[in-house]
Amino acid sequence: MLLLPILCAAAVATGGCDRLPGTASPKTAFNAEAAMGYVKTQLDFGPRVPGTAGHRRTGDWIVAEMKKRTDSVIVQSWTHVTARGDTLPLRNIFARFNPSATQRVLYVTHWDTRPTADEDLNFGNRQLPIPGANDGAAGVALLMALGDVFKTTPPSMGVDLLFVDGEDWGDFGLYNDSNPRPDVLIGSTYFALHLPEPGYKPIFGVLWDMIGDADLQIYQEEYSVSAAPEVVTRVWQAAADLGYGKHFIRETWGPITDDHVPLIRKAGMRVIDVIDIQYGKMGSNSGPGDYPDASNNYHHTLKDTIDKVSAKSLQIVGDVAVTLVK
Ligand SMILES: [Zn+2]
Repeated sequence: MLLLPILCAAAVATGGCDRLPGTASPKTAFNAEAAMGYVKTQLDFGPRVPGTAGHRRTGDWIVAEMKKRTDSVIVQSWTHVTARGDTLPLRNIFARFNPSATQRVLYVTHWDTRPTADEDLNFGNRQLPIPGANDGAAGVALLMALGDVFKTTPPSMGVDLLFVDGEDWGDFGLYNDSNPRPDVLIGSTYFALHLPEPGYKPIFGVLWDMIGDADLQIYQEEYSVSAAPEVVTRVWQAAADLGYGKHFIRETWGPITDDHVPLIRKAGMRVIDVIDIQYGKMGSNSGPGDYPDASNNYHHTLKDTIDKVSAKSLQIVGDVAVTLVK
C-alpha cells in the first residue's frame, strides 16, 4: 500500500501515470478526460442555440451516443412559440438505465446554450451567442461520461439521465408560476407536464449545472434546501466523505431560478440544483447571497470557453454523482 504513491510519482516523472497535473485522483470509474472530450465535441458543433444547425447536430449526437450506452432512450420533440413569436424546435432526451427498477434517481442537465451574451462587459458582444463550455457543455459531458460508467457497471438502482432543451433562451426575470411563456426552463417545464410514464416519481433528483468551472465552489441553493433538504444533505455528505468538502460548501448562496424549479413545483419531484453560480474566481466584493461579481464572472459571456473548465472539477462532480447511486 505504501509503495503505490511512490510508484505513481515515478510514473508521473516518466509520463507513465495517466493523470494530468492538477487533476483530482479519481475515486470512482468516472473518466474526466473523456468528459473533457465531450465538452470539446459540443464546442466544435458551435453554439447550441435552438433553431441552429449546431443545436440540431448536438441533439442528434446526444441521442446517438446515449443509444450506444443504453437501449432505452425516449426523445420528446415539440415546437415552442416564444412570447416574441419565435418558433423553436426543441427536444428533451431521456436515457434510462435499469428501466425496470422501481427505485429510481433522476439526473438532469440542459443541453441548449444562450442565444445572447447579455452579461458580457463588452457591449459589442451582447448580441452574440455564448460558447457555453461550462453553461451547457459541461453538464452534458458529465451525464454522458456517467453513461460510460453505468454501461460498464450498472448502478444498484434505476438511473435516468435527462437532457433538457430550451433552458437558457429568454429572460429569467420574467419567470414565475403564472407567466405562461417566460421562455426559460422550457424543456424542464415540458417534461414536468409530459412525464414519460404515468406517475413517474424518482426517489430523488439532481440538476447538474455549470459544474465544470475550474474554480469549483458549489454552495447550497435555497429552493433546493427548502424543497428537498434531505437530498441536499445526502449530496453534500457524499462529497464530504469523498474528501471534496472544500468544493461542496455547506452554506446557502441564495435562490436560483433553474430547471429544478418546474420539476419541484409542477411535478412534485424532490430535485435539487447543484450549481457553481460564481463562474470564475470569487471576487473580494462577492460572496454567498450576492449576485456573482461581474468583473470576474464568465456567466453568459463570450468568455465561457473550454479553458475555464477543468478535468479536475468534472472528476470531483463525477465521483459524487457515481457515488450517490452505487
Ligand atoms: Zn445559462
